[in-house]
Amino acid sequence: MEASSITRSAVMRANVRSWAWWQLPAVLRTYVGGVVLAGVAFTGFAIAQTSWHATDVGKFLLLLGCGIVSVAATPRTAYLQGSMVRDFITAWVLPIAILLPPIYAMVTPIPLLVLTQWRIHRGVVYRRVFTAAAIGLAYSAASEVFRMFPASFAGGAMGTGSHALTWAVAVAACEQVGRRSHQALIMSAIKLSDPTARVVTGELTREAVQADLIEFNLGVLITIIVAVSPVLAVFVVPMWLMVRRFVMHSQLLAQTRVDTKTGLLNAVTWEREATTEVARAVRTGIPLAIALVDIDHFKKVNDTYGHLVGDRVLREVSDALRSQLRGYDLAGRFGGEEFIILLPQARESDARNVAERLRQYIAGLEIPIDDEPDCMTFVRLTISVGVAALDGVSRELTDLMAAADAALYYAKETGRNKTHVITATAQAS
Ligand code: GH3
Ligand code: MG
Ligand code: MG
Repeated sequence: MEASSITRSAVMRANVRSWAWWQLPAVLRTYVGGVVLAGVAFTGFAIAQTSWHATDVGKFLLLLGCGIVSVAATPRTAYLQGSMVRDFITAWVLPIAILLPPIYAMVTPIPLLVLTQWRIHRGVVYRRVFTAAAIGLAYSAASEVFRMFPASFAGGAMGTGSHALTWAVAVAACEQVGRRSHQALIMSAIKLSDPTARVVTGELTREAVQADLIEFNLGVLITIIVAVSPVLAVFVVPMWLMVRRFVMHSQLLAQTRVDTKTGLLNAVTWEREATTEVARAVRTGIPLAIALVDIDHFKKVNDTYGHLVGDRVLREVSDALRSQLRGYDLAGRFGGEEFIILLPQARESDARNVAERLRQYIAGLEIPIDDEPDCMTFVRLTISVGVAALDGVSRELTDLMAAADAALYYAKETGRNKTHVITATAQAS
């Protein structure tokens, strides 16, 4: 078919070649494009399959309206600092998937995400389009599955008695079909964009599991309430907003603990938690050490490749610290390119070994300057580490920090790419 001149000029105005989507690696671009195309194809198929009823359209508009009001009332701060945020949109898609034919679930995410993009948080456009297609496909699959249940178990209206119970079980099962399919589609994209990403571990944090459960409950409850009467959806909006606020609050609390650039503890939190650890170690006589890490000649990285690459290097070094330390070690970002680590139960010699292992590990890193798979430019760097251990005389975190700082200064002065250990009392005398 020939493109009309209107289409052509619209395409030119949109400057298609400049879309961020084109910058993606080919495999990821194909995957993202494939999911979106599958969404479009399913929409066409579902439109042909659907028999249209005014009551369905009315129900859809009512539920969608409630979803829109909920999203519009979401505070912008929910998206602050670029963290992964649960927007709970699927809690509005589920009732639509269960109570209406699949086509409605397929299209519901579109206005909700357009509104999110326009009103709440301006994200990368292709990601929003991909998310809309992924949610649409996942929950229209849930809708199809719901229609496969035998009438005696979950067919038609919710009903009462044991049928209401089995009906709710079927809704819960379909919620899982939708949620897991949606997750699989998104995780595949993350994995394709970064094969080293630990997506499953990310989904198993306490916050993620809690948010998952809340979203599940909310979706199933809204569906049951709306099944009783669609008008009751209006009363669900305040509940949705309250739950959303509750989850946002715990996300914001978690954010105030960490340094957003690196994900390590921020200096204030590190110091607070380290003070408690030191007091405990002094009380119980258990060894403890700290290590102060400073990247060597980091300014050169910024000067050569720019601050964005500098930030990337900071994140890589932080990831290296995390991967090389034990779960109960406390790693924090102390300042610009300085990190501080508390090593509970580590004697001076243990701490020296840990620091040396870290130093060697980081000296061996090759950090690509961008995400391109064929990127051939790598940043190599070294660190200097100052170590100090509790030695039975010093009893304060500040003594330890001063000693580690002096040790770091010595390592820098004597050539960098070194670990130096100092005892706190030697520093104090
Ligand atoms: P030395 O070996 O003596 O530690 O040299 P250095 O260049 O690492 O240390 P210096 O203190 O001279 O420079 C630190 C640099 O770190 C300067 C500052 O611009 C940069 N920096 C601090 N915070 C950030 C950040 O968040 N991102 C980036 N990209 N750079 C940062
Ligand atoms: Mg420094
Ligand atoms: Mg430095």
